[in-house]
Amino acid sequence: RQSTFVMIKPDAMQRAGEVISRIEEIATLRIADMRLVALQPSMARLFYAEHSQRTFFEDLVSYVTSGPILAMRLVGPDAIKVWREALGPTDSNEARRSAPGSVRALFGTDKQRNAAHGSDSREAAGRELAFFFKDTVDG
Ligand code: ATP
Repeated sequence: RQSTFVMIKPDAMQRAGEVISRIEEIATLRIADMRLVALQPSMARLFYAEHSQRTFFEDLVSYVTSGPILAMRLVGPDAIKVWREALGPTDSNEARRSAPGSVRALFGTDKQRNAAHGSDSREAAGRELAFFFKDTVDG
């Protein structure tokens, strides 16, 4: 059993129900926590601190603070990898070519507006879950 952090980003909130349905279709994953959050710019900068030197950083902060996000904890065997595979590649245009059924192919727009996030390692999952669900422990 493993936990991963999922964020439905502002561009996909209009279709959040459909993204949640995709999660529900993955029989081995269970939604264990969910919060609707209006990220403040200072919180977004902390969350994406690893990208602070990238040219797209301020655009990224503007994007993820442009509307509410849905934060979730998913639990299941190999949850991190299972959800990353369901997401598809970072760039939604690339996702439509190489992973047509993926969440980013279906609900995202381009390399920035890509609908959803998933932790890329156990360390990231722990950090990101603590960020949004402080009292949550990986089980
Ligand atoms: P995430 O961490 O959101 O799951 P990822 O791990 O696939 O995505 P990262 O490289 O960590 O991608 O980038 C974090 C986010 O920054 C991306 O999801 C996307 O919204 C944005 N981003 C990444 N690369 C670019 C880029 N070249 N131009 C604009 N925005 C970008």
